[in-house]
Amino acid sequence: MEVRAMKHRDIRRLVLDTFAREGRAPSVAELADRLGLDGKAVLNGLEDLHDAHAVVLGDYGDAIRMAHPFSAAPMGFVVTPAAPYDDRMWWGGCTWDSFGIGAALKLEVVVATRCPGCGRELRMEAGPSRPPGQDWVAHVPRPAREWWHDVIDTCGNLRTFCSAEHLARWSARTGRATGEAVPVARLWRLAQPWYGDRLDPDYRPRRTAASQRLLTEAGFTGDFWRLPVDRVEAVMTGEDPG
Ligand SMILES: [Zn+2]
Ligand SMILES: [Zn+2]
Repeated sequence: MEVRAMKHRDIRRLVLDTFAREGRAPSVAELADRLGLDGKAVLNGLEDLHDAHAVVLGDYGDAIRMAHPFSAAPMGFVVTPAAPYDDRMWWGGCTWDSFGIGAALKLEVVVATRCPGCGRELRMEAGPSRPPGQDWVAHVPRPAREWWHDVIDTCGNLRTFCSAEHLARWSARTGRATGEAVPVARLWRLAQPWYGDRLDPDYRPRRTAASQRLLTEAGFTGDFWRLPVDRVEAVMTGEDPG
């Protein structure tokens, strides 16, 4: 049991560290080689981490697609260090994750994207103690209880718009229903505690109640923002997940 926990912790940490350093996901073979495990053991470990929402595997289950706040593929956001320039870059999974990359790396970043409503290029500078200065809105496409039903789709649609009007324009044009429009600065505020410890050597996943508290503290309250009760936690606390 102890060996298992150690393996999962090591795999997760190497995945996150590779994303942080190089902006890409490590392959299964690379993880096996670096950790002295066989490929099957790494795959099993990744599947467990996928089930625990620590990583997101691709459709075939044999490659890392996301490890929040990082993405292995473009999803509408490019994140780079703010001045002074260096040659690192990361794909941001969504508006929230893009701010989360700055939080996790404790780095001032430039988040570049495009408003889906008007096509205009949008650039936001933000850091751990510096909110983005723009009054743009982020579109959260579905309620919190459904975020992980299809997390790639959730993040892929959590885009930044120039204004609520441009979000409405996009919705009318595409026929897509809208979730909630929130100020980008409020999502930045949420991203700091949510992702700030993600690269810490002694990182421990948060309980659902702690995550709910972070949402509340950032001003996200009401039914739309209520997280689903985790099944393992529910058993431990005697709550029925429904
Ligand atoms: Zn726009
Ligand atoms: Zn996301």
